[in-house]
Amino acid sequence: MKAPDSPLQERLMAVQRELDGAQESADRELTLVAVSKTKPDQDLMEAYAMGQKDFGENRVQELVGKAQRLPKDILWHMIGHVQTNKIKDFLPWVHLVHGVDRVKVLRVMQKEAAKINRKVRVLLQVHIAEEATKFGFDGEEILALGAPEVWEEFPHLLPVGLMGMATFTEDQEQVRREFSRLAKLHKVLQPSMDEMLRERGEQWSTLSMGMSGDWRVAVQEGSTMVRVGSAIFGMRNTLNTKA
Ligand SMILES: *Cc1c(COP(=O)(O)O)cnc(C)c1O
Repeated sequence: MKAPDSPLQERLMAVQRELDGAQESADRELTLVAVSKTKPDQDLMEAYAMGQKDFGENRVQELVGKAQRLPKDILWHMIGHVQTNKIKDFLPWVHLVHGVDRVKVLRVMQKEAAKINRKVRVLLQVHIAEEATKFGFDGEEILALGAPEVWEEFPHLLPVGLMGMATFTEDQEQVRREFSRLAKLHKVLQPSMDEMLRERGEQWSTLSMGMSGDWRVAVQEGSTMVRVGSAIFGMRNTLNTKA
């Protein structure tokens, strides 16, 4: 990493350094997704200049526009709630879709992926927060999706892991419990999903949990991928704070 020469680059480097340390002590790979929603191209390029390659967006038009304009080696993560009528628009550009939260999304995604002959990597979003407002499958639905034969219907999809968001609260122990539950589900599904994915050349490798306010707890509980926005890019335009 080059030396930082802006506050944004300093913040990015601080997060990356801490993640590197955690990665070493946890002995597993940790990926930082820089959540750049609402931010101008210039901010993403400042992060890119520091070697940052994974960026997260939650709006289809914004993701596609940035993907068309910015360097082609950037890996784009769709982290927002997926609307089925928009899937065909972002599919050609996306590296990983984090917010798959219902079977309908899997069906439409399979159909659109087949049309463009692409394999699409997805994460199943699990509802772990005690708040009623967050999207996601519940534990039982996730366990049902862990049956390998389910995936025969979705040959173009590569379900490589789980994603979840903890309750927005100061109560760190509650956040920890929610992340811990997600990590446990991930582990329970490991053998059957790895077996199913082996013939697709993939692994059940990814546990996407942790944002600016709770990523340290998430990493302690087993996260392999954190989605950090405001701690790097600063506060967002309040018009787009929804997932
Ligand atoms: C916006 C967003 C983030 C990043 O949030 P910060 O608190 O700014 O780090 C992470 N995950 C999802 C799903 C988001 O919508």
